Amino acid sequence: MASTSTAPVLRNFIAGEWREPVSRQHLDNRNPADASQLVGRFPASGPEDADLAIAAAQEAYSTWRLTPAPRRAEILFRAGQILIQRKDAFAADMTREMGKVLLEARGDVQEAIDMLFFMAGEGRRLYGQTTPSELPNKMCMTTRVPLGVAALITPWNFPMAIPSWKSAPALLCGNTVVLKAAEDAPLSAVHWVEALTEAGLPAGVINLVLGRGEECGAPLVRDPRTRIVSFTGSTAVGREVGVEAARQFKHCNLEMGGKNAIIVLDDADLEMALDGCLWGAFGTTGQRCTATSRIIVQTGLYKKFIAAFVERVKTLRLGNGLHAHTQVGPLVNEEALQKVTGYVEIGRQEGARLECGGERAIVDDLRHGYFFNPTVFSDVSPTMRIAREEIFGPVVSVIPCSGLEDAIEIANAVEYGLSSALYTANVNAAFRALRDLDTGIVYVNAPTIGAEVHLPFGGTRNTGNGHRESGLATLDVYSEWKTLYVDYSGHLQRAQIDTGE
Ligand code: NAD
Repeated sequence: MASTSTAPVLRNFIAGEWREPVSRQHLDNRNPADASQLVGRFPASGPEDADLAIAAAQEAYSTWRLTPAPRRAEILFRAGQILIQRKDAFAADMTREMGKVLLEARGDVQEAIDMLFFMAGEGRRLYGQTTPSELPNKMCMTTRVPLGVAALITPWNFPMAIPSWKSAPALLCGNTVVLKAAEDAPLSAVHWVEALTEAGLPAGVINLVLGRGEECGAPLVRDPRTRIVSFTGSTAVGREVGVEAARQFKHCNLEMGGKNAIIVLDDADLEMALDGCLWGAFGTTGQRCTATSRIIVQTGLYKKFIAAFVERVKTLRLGNGLHAHTQVGPLVNEEALQKVTGYVEIGRQEGARLECGGERAIVDDLRHGYFFNPTVFSDVSPTMRIAREEIFGPVVSVIPCSGLEDAIEIANAVEYGLSSALYTANVNAAFRALRDLDTGIVYVNAPTIGAEVHLPFGGTRNTGNGHRESGLATLDVYSEWKTLYVDYSGHLQRAQIDTGE
């Protein structure tokens, strides 16, 4: 990272060196809580930078793939220790560049630490199988092998956690990496790469290109030298990425949008459900892929729920995420503000009842940032656009339902399938929901957010393409199975033919 007297100028990281982009052009990284504050400048990288990064990763691959997995894992472990030491500083930088409140930014760094330690442990396992042969004096086994260069494309809303979900398993399996981090969170990506490098990752094993998606992300997907593409972001971009990757038969995992619902049944513990809905809907200003953007409430509790919920929502304190009292930070940028404002207008026109919020927050210092008052719509019908489309902001729709079956039908009637939740005291209802909610993640008596790194993460339908991040499931993205047969009989043995009959 180079520094000017005003704000740092970030660089790409290629072949073990921090480098200017070939174009010498840079973009601004501004604080969404006060857009007049320049957090830094970062490269506007293009295809030439992507090309250099891929070449460096390809060169490093020949050595890295032969480095024993436990040695690779030790480097990940050391990176985790470095992050522990710098957690507070990295979290503060994260809050400054993308707005999430400090407590959550610390959680984001913690998630990267957790992932590093989890994958470091996996370095001494990375288990394959041994299985009997149908023939005598023959051994059969499987082992995971890396693929080569992995292109990792990440969004801004989990600036260190998501790069860690992808880089840690990719590196552990023996691949080398080109990370293309999001435009709204370049500084956290630089911190992430610094930690791995200081931990001892050899030159070229991880490379970082910063810039716009079409200019330096798309070339990574198109280039035949990248054999893995792991993308997290919007469904629209993910679809393009998936088509291009499929054309070249690359390993490709896509983690995309959500329209997550919490169901609250009449017998739910109301206080617990209110706490969960508040956190699920307005944590990270509603800018989580797992954010609760629909609350489906059974009619017996509906009115009482809305009254109590709206009362709580109105008490949420907006502000700069660095301030201790802040509960809800800003939206990430002007475009997000426009999008959320547009959806509130759509909700009004569709006839939903606006209970609170609904407009940009401009009191005092908030007017310098992209703040939006936490918004609740009630009397929302499942067919309205605000109940079907991803808004990605502090807007939640409350939808009445007659009971569990109706609620599950409403919950499943969207194009996305990431996360869902149910509040109930009825064990039968809980298990039916666990079975029938068509999402990759289902919670009982907890909100739709709160994933842990050692379990699979991902969604069904337009949220994903069948792969999972995190947990051991993610290893299937970053490795391939190789099947090994050793015949020690000393003569030819023919499978399926020499059956002994
Ligand atoms: P985005 O799709 O705009 O961008 C994501 C990344 O893709 C960025 O790095 C961007 O520069 C890059 N990109 C853009 N166009 C590209 C192209 N043509 N080729 C290659 N790369 C390109 O998404 P965003 O606004 O950064 O993130 C918000 C979205 O991410 C939401 O839809 C949210 O639900 C989703 N998300 C999903 C998960 C999940 O795990 N399912 C997690 C977090 C966020």
